Amino acid sequence: MKSLIDKLEREQILSREEFISLIENHNPELAGYLFERALAVRHRHYGHDVYIRGLIEFTNYCKNDCFYCGLRASNRNAQRYRLSQEQIMDCCREGYRLGFRTFVLQGGEDPWYNTDRIEDLVRTIKSEFSDCAVTLSVGEHPREVYQRWYDAGADRYLLRHETATAKHYSMLHPANLSLENRLRCLWDLKEIGYQVGCGIMVGSPGQTTENIADDLLFMAKFQPDMVGIGPFIPQHDTPFRDKTAGTLELTVFLLGIIRLMLPQVLLPSTTALGTIHPTGREQGILAGANVCMPNLSPTEVREKYALYDNKICTGDEAAQSLNSLKKRMESIGYRVVESRGDRAGRMIQ
Ligand code: SAH
Repeated sequence: MKSLIDKLEREQILSREEFISLIENHNPELAGYLFERALAVRHRHYGHDVYIRGLIEFTNYCKNDCFYCGLRASNRNAQRYRLSQEQIMDCCREGYRLGFRTFVLQGGEDPWYNTDRIEDLVRTIKSEFSDCAVTLSVGEHPREVYQRWYDAGADRYLLRHETATAKHYSMLHPANLSLENRLRCLWDLKEIGYQVGCGIMVGSPGQTTENIADDLLFMAKFQPDMVGIGPFIPQHDTPFRDKTAGTLELTVFLLGIIRLMLPQVLLPSTTALGTIHPTGREQGILAGANVCMPNLSPTEVREKYALYDNKICTGDEAAQSLNSLKKRMESIGYRVVESRGDRAGRMIQ
């Protein structure tokens, strides 16, 4: 199995069968070797720097009904909120003071936040913070809409593909959502010129090793700038409330594989990873991740953005979460840096 890791480092790709056997045979010893190689690659491109993104969860209204997500439209127990543009600007100002140079605007697919309002929001943020990157993560839209937001100044877009297998996609989503449209969105975003992030939940209901291998092959073909992966965690008000969560071990193992396959990719150690284990985010960094996304949303709304249960940091002030993150990173030999944190090797227009 170690020879497969060497091959992956050398060729940055494996066959479907090789990915399957690598994943199926993962164990602590093999993981130790994988992380050693993944860190060597990470240090070559990014040193010991950890990039931070200020996450602003600006609306939890959503017209979609994804089976795994606590924001789903038919969740009557969700307490819905939507931040005003002024509230979002205040989050950015606070974030800027703290050293953030990327703001991630994430939300459900909220019809009130339509094309015009998001366009105006992006323009307003970019005019006050011209040295910052703006990342959007607001789901599936027509190409023309993505183009308008890009022209308004948005730099990046996060849209996890969730799974590259149509049959598995239909186990996670209602019939009006399709893998085909999700992938159309990703290719449109890339063609327009965004830095694009795709990704999956690890251990989502029905996921097989074959599915994960196909997700990796999709990533190799798509060549994303970012890859967001975190464990699936059940949410008590969804149809998946009784499903098993994904594991820390498999998530970090996949982080290591992705670092070797896409050496310069921006790879977050996610909040979900920090939620399933007290040192999950540190372990993600030590597997090859190089990004963290602390929450900049106002504390009053944090708990309401309940994608999954027991989410961490819902009680902290932004400054508090950042300080604790800095200490955690220092404790494992890494440092949080104040920078836009674009992907290494990418030309910025
Ligand atoms: N509406 C946006 C943002 C979705 S939330 C979009 O469609 O992209 C961001 C990510 O959270 C999702 O892509 C999904 O992968 C993840 N997520 C949602 N519910 C989750 C759960 N129960 N456990 C773990 N991750 C979850």
